[in-house]
Amino acid sequence: MFGLIGHSTSLEQARSKALELGFPEYAEGDLDLWCVAPPQLVETVSITSRTGKTIEGAYIDSVFVPEMLSRFKTARRKVLNAMELAQKSGIDITALGGFTSIIFENFNLLKSQQIRSTALEWERFTTGNTHTAWVIAQQVELNAPALGIDLSQAKVAVVGATGDIGSAVCRWLSQKTGVAELLLVARQPQPLLDLQAELGGGRILSLEESLPQADVVVWVASLPQGLSIEADSLRSPCLMIDGGYPKNLDTKVAGGGVHVIKGGIVEFWQDIGWQMMEVAEMDNPRRQLFACFAEAMLLEFEGLHTNFSWGRNNITLANMELIGAASLRHGFRSIGLNQVPQPQLAAV
Ligand code: NDP
Repeated sequence: MFGLIGHSTSLEQARSKALELGFPEYAEGDLDLWCVAPPQLVETVSITSRTGKTIEGAYIDSVFVPEMLSRFKTARRKVLNAMELAQKSGIDITALGGFTSIIFENFNLLKSQQIRSTALEWERFTTGNTHTAWVIAQQVELNAPALGIDLSQAKVAVVGATGDIGSAVCRWLSQKTGVAELLLVARQPQPLLDLQAELGGGRILSLEESLPQADVVVWVASLPQGLSIEADSLRSPCLMIDGGYPKNLDTKVAGGGVHVIKGGIVEFWQDIGWQMMEVAEMDNPRRQLFACFAEAMLLEFEGLHTNFSWGRNNITLANMELIGAASLRHGFRSIGLNQVPQPQLAAV
């Protein structure tokens, strides 16, 4: 059985979802009430691969909302309690979605294996970042040519280059795709220098320096809501893959020659009978989902009950290829610009 741990995008959205699901006390509750609310297993689902294999899964709402990010103890408790619920529910492999994997890593929750009487078994969990990174790399490779961007001549800025997903995307784009130049953007200098040394190239630039030069921009950082981007300073055409969370770039820059795609989102080959993606504002919530969630499904389809994506900056090209091949085999495709042809299995 696979599991997905997610959360609402805001307290307001969580309250309206609570009303729909029949929890009126939460619909009216303030942040303090939500802080003490336990995780909920809200939905079970069964899905069938293109190969014909059917698997069962469950969605667990951690009852975390981004407004809790500054409350360290609450955020920590929310993630660990949701993991405990997943394990106690007998789920073999669960993806940590949205902010939950970032909280797990940044708050070093590896040290917190014992939750009451439950010793968390790490092999039951995955961040899903290997599949997310592979999907984002695919979104670059498939969609840039449709805009007339020749990747072998192109400059690709990766904002959040030193992160878990960003560093994997950089490895793929430099070693597999062969882009002309990577522009590496993050705030801390040392990890950027380490990444540059590992890649054997790439130019370290500030966000402001990189954007006007980039034919493609991959955003894999959670950026401040207040960030403003000079749309006029961007190249035309410019492909932007909005892989951060929340996904808000289309409202900031899309238009003219700037094309924004929601990054790290996949579409399944047939409808999934669930409600959960409606709240994630997917264009087609019956079929579209976060690639990190899809990773748990893929590991279940493949019988790989292991923490496939774990820790930071451990994602290998071999594992991206493995999960990418499974993704295509079981009927997922990355979302992109309209009418972009999809790869065949042999292309992976
Ligand atoms: P990490 O924490 O590993 O990496 C974040 C990266 O962003 C680091 O390179 C960090 O470097 C950089 N960064 C953070 N803030 C800024 C800033 N203001 N300006 C420039 N760089 C910045 O995160 P992950 O790789 O795990 O995830 C990256 C993003 O992808 C997150 O927003 C996450 O929510 C999202 N995500 C999306 C998924 C999907 O859509 N399917 C699935 C999983 C994650 P530094 O601190 O040095 O600036």
